[in-house]
Amino acid sequence: MRPKFPTAALKHIELWLFPRRCPFCGGLLGADALHGTVCPNCAEEEAQLRHIPPRLPEGEHDFYAVKEAAAAYYYEGIVRSAILRCKRGGCPWFARELADRVAVLVFGALPAHAVGEQPEYLGSVTMPLYSCIVPVPPRQPRPGVPGLPLLLARRLGKVLGVPVETPLYLKNPGRPQKELTREERLRNAKGAFACQSGADLSGKRVLLVDDIITTGATVSACAMALMQAGAVDVTVVSIAAAEERADGKGKTNRKRKKPSLFQG
Ligand SMILES: [Zn+2]
Repeated sequence: MRPKFPTAALKHIELWLFPRRCPFCGGLLGADALHGTVCPNCAEEEAQLRHIPPRLPEGEHDFYAVKEAAAAYYYEGIVRSAILRCKRGGCPWFARELADRVAVLVFGALPAHAVGEQPEYLGSVTMPLYSCIVPVPPRQPRPGVPGLPLLLARRLGKVLGVPVETPLYLKNPGRPQKELTREERLRNAKGAFACQSGADLSGKRVLLVDDIITTGATVSACAMALMQAGAVDVTVVSIAAAEERADGKGKTNRKRKKPSLFQG
């Protein structure tokens, strides 16, 4: 019998051939990387942009059919650049590090102890939180190219120990969401997604994954389609959320709400 090549040596070769990079700036990750995923140059801004707590406030988004929603970051600065680099910059491999940040910041997984390692999620030892992970389907699918939500779902599924399923598809594309107002987005997304015929999610607790949550219209429409296919409940997670920050810093995708009459 041939002796097995040690896994550690294989990992070493993989890292040498395909070195991991900081998703926020593209720089090479070294031994000084935070949690094996963030370079020292980006660490300060990365910490400032964390969405703490990860749970998204109802007033900032228009959710329906969603049990709860969470994001690791605010959609600003280096987080915005990282997502755009993955989606349009031809660097989809950063999805791995971004998904690992979501696993650590949203699900409390233990961070990787070195570059190239994966976080450890201890919750999977007791009882899996979800029956399956489902990515939001891309609005403009490219043949043979997996969208960012699917790449995130695959890595998160690996870390959390939950299988990935892809029952959703875009039924009515409508107009691009980013061209629309908040109200128009809700109307445009409603009924836009459906589950493939024969998809049976009966009794399943679904974790729906998207890259950015703005109004919540897209994830809510997806959640509705999943519930119609039998899902018991749908929780949503994303890398980032576009909303106003509690400290008043940062930009938002819509105007600040009028102050209440009861405020000073
Ligand atoms: Zn960096």
